[in-house]
Amino acid sequence: MRLPKIRELGEAIGAIFGRRYTTRFPACPVDVPERYRGKPEFDTDKCIGCGACVNACPTEALTLVEDLNARPPFRRLTLRWDRCIFCGNCSENCTTSEGIKLSRQWDLAGLDRSVMSEEHTFGLVLCQRCGAVVGTKKHIIWLCRRLGPLAYSNPTLLLASGADVLGGLARGPVRQDQQVEIGDFVQVLCPRCRYQLNISF
Ligand code: SF4
Ligand code: SF4
Repeated sequence: MRLPKIRELGEAIGAIFGRRYTTRFPACPVDVPERYRGKPEFDTDKCIGCGACVNACPTEALTLVEDLNARPPFRRLTLRWDRCIFCGNCSENCTTSEGIKLSRQWDLAGLDRSVMSEEHTFGLVLCQRCGAVVGTKKHIIWLCRRLGPLAYSNPTLLLASGADVLGGLARGPVRQDQQVEIGDFVQVLCPRCRYQLNISF
């Protein structure tokens, strides 16, 4: 029975003077592997606020709220990295492929969870007939660029993408209960209203 104890003692002494297998963190920084999955980070230029990543997030680390009564109306995306499991679903399902990426930032521990979040706000374009959300302004501009000349077939895309040039989209009273009119063609409409218009004329 004594022999194993002596062997363990020998191993302990050998470990003290032998090669180190652990890092010296936090005394020294740690360099993680190239493909390490750390804190998700938004690219504010390439994120269009579409919300696809929110739908793909399994832990509600990404959430979305909209305020349609604000002037101007907006959508806010919130990332709470204290809830993130670093699965990478958000990055894999990003519409632009570059809006959010997992960084190599891993040292995220803290005592105050209220500071472990960030928010990004996007202006919304609403249907001029029923007030429903058509999309974020950035999303519509992105679509127009992707479609090129094909975007000319959709008045909503053209009007909404050029709203800044036109001085903004004046949103009149919601007329959901009224019949669609031929003049509604040249308006920013949600897919439901656009469909209703197309089958009416
Ligand atoms: S890495 Fe996974 S858990 Fe974290 S924000 Fe992205 S989808 Fe959500
Ligand atoms: S899916 Fe990509 S582009 Fe869309 S909101 Fe998320 S990060 Fe931004």
